[in-house]
Amino acid sequence: MFHSPIKSFFGVDCLKNNSEILKVFGNNILLITGKNSAKSCGALTEVVSVINQTGKKYVHFDQVTENPDLEIIRKGSDFLKKNNCDVIIAIGGGSPIDAAKAIAATAANNLIPEDLYKPNNIKKGIPIIAIPTTSGTGTEVTQYSVLTNLTTGNKAGFASPFNFPVCSFSDPKFTLSLPQTVTRDTAIDALSHLLEGIYSVKTEPLLYPIIFEGIKLIYENLQECLDQPLNIQIREKLMQAAFYGGLVIAQTGTTLQHSIGYPLTTEYGITHGCSNGIVMKDIMELFYFARKNEIDNLFTYMGIQRQDFYNWLISLNLVNDNFIDNNLLEAHIKKVAASSNIANNPIQVSTESIRKIYEKYIK
Ligand code: NAP
Ligand code: ZN
Repeated sequence: MFHSPIKSFFGVDCLKNNSEILKVFGNNILLITGKNSAKSCGALTEVVSVINQTGKKYVHFDQVTENPDLEIIRKGSDFLKKNNCDVIIAIGGGSPIDAAKAIAATAANNLIPEDLYKPNNIKKGIPIIAIPTTSGTGTEVTQYSVLTNLTTGNKAGFASPFNFPVCSFSDPKFTLSLPQTVTRDTAIDALSHLLEGIYSVKTEPLLYPIIFEGIKLIYENLQECLDQPLNIQIREKLMQAAFYGGLVIAQTGTTLQHSIGYPLTTEYGITHGCSNGIVMKDIMELFYFARKNEIDNLFTYMGIQRQDFYNWLISLNLVNDNFIDNNLLEAHIKKVAASSNIANNPIQVSTESIRKIYEKYIK
């Protein structure tokens, strides 16, 4: 089964060339962005110019920080209600777009953000138009929003059909300004989504052409993109792979690969993509025999050996020093074992297996 209720536009100038679609949704627009990048990458100027052509009003909430927390969602939801907004345009990486989904669900259903994790609480939504400026999360085409609870230190996603944007505009020119590390880490996040489409118990062979091609696009183009950051053709290839990754996890969900990475972000400030990348080889080894045919077919498609892929991962220099605090190890393992996407693993994963992976990185 494949489900995507989103009108997705892709390619250079896709927003400018299809701006009439903005006329369809709402009159009072809430623009949601992070602090700086929406402006510096050129997307904000383009969106405002398109809004002005429609004659609609907008207000701007620009307080979303990386790994958005529940307080930001509370503030954004109050801001939306105060301004009677009836449509959201979210510009940014995964953080502003995920925040937009949570703000919409909180405001539309009169919730407190803590209640977003009870799926039955979300009975309606507010239309969201998503404009990604990173090539990583694929959130522009998923039903997920990942939030951090600063009180508990937990990072977790919630899913709702109302989280799906109504449309998305993926224009690679907005990614030209991405710094090297963000380019690398977001591409690794997309790679993780594509691999998890193979690992997940909800794996769907219908997806394999885009999974295999997406992984190949990243493997063959990431280093070139880091060397030539202003090459729009290469940026477009990474954006395509990230888009595929989003389509994939929207069907299959994520797995241990993501849950094992969350404590690395909340405790040690390692970016989301990098957290996935650090444990990518370990997870592939752990799941290899459960998905041997599919993984072997993938590497045949790419014309490489599994070891070439591992060597390539090492060449990205994702981790230099060991960083895990031994005193926190048991708490990390407990959180991973309790996370909801553990149910998607292709094998029963013991706490011992999780410990073995983390132990490699104890300082
Ligand atoms: P991000 O946290 O949105 O942004 C990372 C950094 O990159 C920020 O400093 C941001 O600046 C900057 N940035 C964004 N676009 C830029 C551009 N075009 N040029 C220059 N700088 C730019 O990064 P992300 O990796 O895209 O999102 C990560 C979040 O998404 C995590 O919370 C992760 O858990 C979540 N996620 C969600 C899904 C899903 O399906 N919902 C899937 C995977 C991950 P500003 O702060 O100024 O904008
Ligand atoms: Zn991810």
